[in-house]
Amino acid sequence: SRPQRLTILGATGSIGLSTLDVVARHPEDFEVYALTAHKNVRAMLSLCEKYRPEVAVMTDAQAGSELSAELNKRGIKTKVTVGSDALIEVAHDSTVDVVMAAIVGAAGLLPTLAAVKSGKRVLLANKEALVMSGQLFIDAVRESGAQLLPVDSEHNAIFQALPIAVQQDHGATLADHGIRKILLTGSGGPFRELPLDMLHTQGPEAACNHPNWSMGQKISVDSATMLNKGLEYIEARWLFNSQRAELDIVIHPQSVVHSMVQYCDGSVLAQLGQPDMRTPIAYCLGYPERLESGVASLEFPTLGALTFAAPDAARYPLLQLAIDACWAGQAATTTLNAANEVAVAAFLERRIQFGDIAKVCLAVMEQASFPAVHTIDEILALDHEARMLASKMLRV
Ligand code: NDP
Ligand code: MG
Repeated sequence: SRPQRLTILGATGSIGLSTLDVVARHPEDFEVYALTAHKNVRAMLSLCEKYRPEVAVMTDAQAGSELSAELNKRGIKTKVTVGSDALIEVAHDSTVDVVMAAIVGAAGLLPTLAAVKSGKRVLLANKEALVMSGQLFIDAVRESGAQLLPVDSEHNAIFQALPIAVQQDHGATLADHGIRKILLTGSGGPFRELPLDMLHTQGPEAACNHPNWSMGQKISVDSATMLNKGLEYIEARWLFNSQRAELDIVIHPQSVVHSMVQYCDGSVLAQLGQPDMRTPIAYCLGYPERLESGVASLEFPTLGALTFAAPDAARYPLLQLAIDACWAGQAATTTLNAANEVAVAAFLERRIQFGDIAKVCLAVMEQASFPAVHTIDEILALDHEARMLASKMLRV
């Protein structure tokens, strides 16, 4: 059969690069159509040299002209397009089979949705897109017949442990298939054992120094606050059509068990592996077949103890905030996501301290109003409003 044509949204990021690493191991199965980035010209240039995509998108126009000039100098024929509309074009291009959605944050929403609406196989890493638009996103998947496969390691683990009938139907009821609970595991991040009184003043270097995973900066900070697990809880609610009593979070510092599904007969199915995103990425690229990913096998004789615990509410105030937002409705999760993006950006720029991230999010959630949102335009308007409110909080 012909190779699958692939667009990678966010190709220069941590997930984008891991995806290309897996793809390069299977030159007969995949063909890179488009790669996208925001403004990292140097990184995109080296990807173009190596993978020769037909199109390279830079959402930043200045970066686009620089890339164009560099490609010309080197005689590389990749076509450069710019702006956020260009992202949508490469996401729904009729010749594309597979879209990896790996832009970070709200910027990924529209192109990811464009891929969904055109019925592609969509590999979802960009959890913020689903958190922002929930029901709308899942409705779009069901209407278009897109095949949505979760890249996030927890959701990928859960997906692997689900019956095929549930994998293939986003409207399936878990209880009807004998599923009692979905158990999301999380390491607890770099500050799991830090004395609580030292938490507030931690800086970006410490927050981004995750004990097990190497990831982009935004998700690394989210892992330190555990809002990442909160966003994943919301993501799981939509991906697996789960009820409140069906979702739990478990701390598992070793990051070997990537998540679990508990059945009504007492069985628990888990997926285990190295903390390397190439495993879930390869699973999604190959599904339902298995592909070589370059990831080494777990060595059980030297693995040591696997431990589990309940999350500490005092250490991770954003976790409960996210769980409550999940069941409060779409406006709450859209608002929380926006406030967090603003706060994390300010933290990375050293304008606020680590403890302020939660303070800003809590203050925004207290002051925001939560209107019913039914359309993407309403969601984007709400996202904008929440960002304004969060920016205001940063100044007080
Ligand atoms: P990175 O920060 O490493 O990469 C982000 C990518 O998005 C880059 O290609 C970047 O381009 C691009 N980008 C950033 N801002 C914009 C914008 N405004 N418009 C268009 N493109 C933009 O992130 P990660 O790879 O770590 O994460 C990507 C997504 O995957 C996130 O949603 C994250 O939560 C999720 N995820 C990541 C995991 C991981 O292990 N890293 C695990 C599970 C989920 P440029 O390089 O030019 O800035
Ligand atoms: Mg994850």
